[in-house]
Amino acid sequence: MPITKSITETQTRTVTLLTLQEYADSILDEPYKQPLKTIAEALAVHGWECDPMPDNYRPICCGVETECKSFLGGAYLATCKTCGKFVYDVTAPTFGNAWVSFPSSEKVDMETDYERRWIAGMPKEKP
Ligand SMILES: [Zn+2]
Repeated sequence: MPITKSITETQTRTVTLLTLQEYADSILDEPYKQPLKTIAEALAVHGWECDPMPDNYRPICCGVETECKSFLGGAYLATCKTCGKFVYDVTAPTFGNAWVSFPSSEKVDMETDYERRWIAGMPKEKP
């Protein structure tokens, strides 16, 4: 009687994902490196109102609405054109001439603490 043997092979692949914080530290210039914040925390750094982004919410700074950039309905950047303060979502898409790239979920842990993915910054000091 033939013996049919089935072999189940289990492959274990260990993938070390970057935390969002590690990812942020890898893409941000030195002056902007900081512990990631929730959108409310990031807005609060500038004293901006803490309505959640995005959609039609434009924080007011220096007496005018900040300029918001969004992609597919989600805002990822709000900048005051007057003083340069900004909040930025580190998972935001990166735009090239003809492409858009996102951090890869195979490289970055996009699930843990995903709310906490914002930085608040000021323009770099001009030398
Ligand atoms: Zn301002």
